[in-house]
Amino acid sequence: MGVTQQQVQDALAKVATPRGVGLTNAGVLSPISAGDGKVFFSINVEASEARAWEGVRAAAESAVRAIPGVEVAMVALTAERKAGAAAPPAPHRHAPGVQNVASHRPPQGGPSPMSRQAEIPGVAAIIAVASGKGGVGKSTTALNLALGLRDLGLRVGLLDADIYGPSVPRLTGIREKPQLNVDRKMIPLQRFGLSIMSIGFLVEEETAMIWRGPMVMSAVTQMLRDVAWGTLDVLVVDMPPGTGDAQLTLAQTVPLKGAVIISTPQDLSLIDARRGLAMFTKVNVPVLGIIENMSYFRCPHCGTQSDIFGHGGARHEAERLGVPFLGEIPLHMSIRTTSDAGTPVVESEPKGLHAAIYREIGAKVRDQLKDAIAAA
Ligand code: ADP
Repeated sequence: MGVTQQQVQDALAKVATPRGVGLTNAGVLSPISAGDGKVFFSINVEASEARAWEGVRAAAESAVRAIPGVEVAMVALTAERKAGAAAPPAPHRHAPGVQNVASHRPPQGGPSPMSRQAEIPGVAAIIAVASGKGGVGKSTTALNLALGLRDLGLRVGLLDADIYGPSVPRLTGIREKPQLNVDRKMIPLQRFGLSIMSIGFLVEEETAMIWRGPMVMSAVTQMLRDVAWGTLDVLVVDMPPGTGDAQLTLAQTVPLKGAVIISTPQDLSLIDARRGLAMFTKVNVPVLGIIENMSYFRCPHCGTQSDIFGHGGARHEAERLGVPFLGEIPLHMSIRTTSDAGTPVVESEPKGLHAAIYREIGAKVRDQLKDAIAAA
């Protein structure tokens, strides 16, 4: 059943706000995405007001969920500090779910930002898969790596946080929407033995494209904390590409045990990977290693290997920077076609060379997370 903008507006008009007017008249709403049982919008206030508005956010979400036909409602509260305003209090003192976009700079020489992030109960280790730029195969690698970790006997989840272009629905062929459990948390979709959540399950791709930093942060935080992940050894987060402010904030906000950086061998891509490394170092997230994707091409007819982009650059770079090199993934048609068909190569060709490579990389990642997994 469809849901109209008007139904949502009517429900929100009855939600009271600290400004003494209904929510629709408070001048704080983003455009509302409604339709197909999914409603998504954000409430944008100043950082100093954020705590007072968390109750409004929860009330708005309940009001929308009560509309007949609404299956998923996600209301993000985003807080922006005005230029020149006093620094806001430390993030852990904010209301839950509130991201302060202006306070994301890591403390110089202070305690690790990790210490301020609440872990996700039941999830032993969260790792980021990141790239300095788009199109290097980050999402393809994140999914196949998750499957490689699954093959090692681990319980694995995948969170597609690539808000600018969520590709996990396409890569997994998932078309369903997440349902809510009795605690009104979203239940991740199950596919290939993985627990999967993507913003692409909730909003149309075009909506995702127009998101701005603060909304991104808030949505990702909610996908982490308002999803019933259950018990997981590893949750793989497919990060938005790039090393801008949104990515930096994400790297700091998500309680990461480590990050994996994907690069192609081209120089430009390696320079971007270096930026990624610098970003994680800045927020004290250990870099688990670099993966060289589209590393070389092996001719399916004659078996000859061609180093199209000058293979090996990422390995050198990793050595130079003192971070582990996790492996090389060839440029291969079957990796692309299986991805596009929603049947990733580790799942569809489990005995193949490519699946073995992803499992080997998975083992190197697992070994670095052993303590966290054992302690959970
Ligand atoms: P990103 O997440 O970095 O934007 P994607 O994972 O969406 O990149 O990959 C971009 C394109 O490259 C997709 O069409 C994907 O199928 C293809 N691709 C990724 N890795 C490989 C590979 N090793 N061999 C062949 N095609 C690949």
